Amino acid sequence: MLQPPHSSLQVAAVPAQRVPVRDRDQDAPWHTEAVCRRDEAGLFFAPSKEPTAARLSREEAAKRVCARCPVMVECREHALLQPEPYGVWGGLTAAERRVVLARRRRRDVELKQAARAGRIAQAG
Ligand code: SF4
Repeated sequence: MLQPPHSSLQVAAVPAQRVPVRDRDQDAPWHTEAVCRRDEAGLFFAPSKEPTAARLSREEAAKRVCARCPVMVECREHALLQPEPYGVWGGLTAAERRVVLARRRRRDVELKQAARAGRIAQAG
């Protein structure tokens, strides 16, 4: 049986009550093609008390792995939709995913406002 990506790292990085999503949906098509599936280097999740310089270096290394992954788009969208609070997914850190999600929320609000304004203009 194949192990899910970074399973040993997830145990260390994710609170015990959370079931890692990579464990839950490992049958998803994108998951089976994950380049990180057999990662042993510990690139994708932070060990406890990781110094900032080490974190930045590790995250850049993880992103380089993601850049050559054939399922990067699917993985990124999965991590955004869950949302995944920890680790590098789809070439984005958790902080970068929060920025993307905030932009999407703002865009959704603007689109709704524009749609409302359009309806008002049509009615008027
Ligand atoms: S994009 Fe990165 S985190 Fe996602 S499956 Fe591929 S290598 Fe793993």
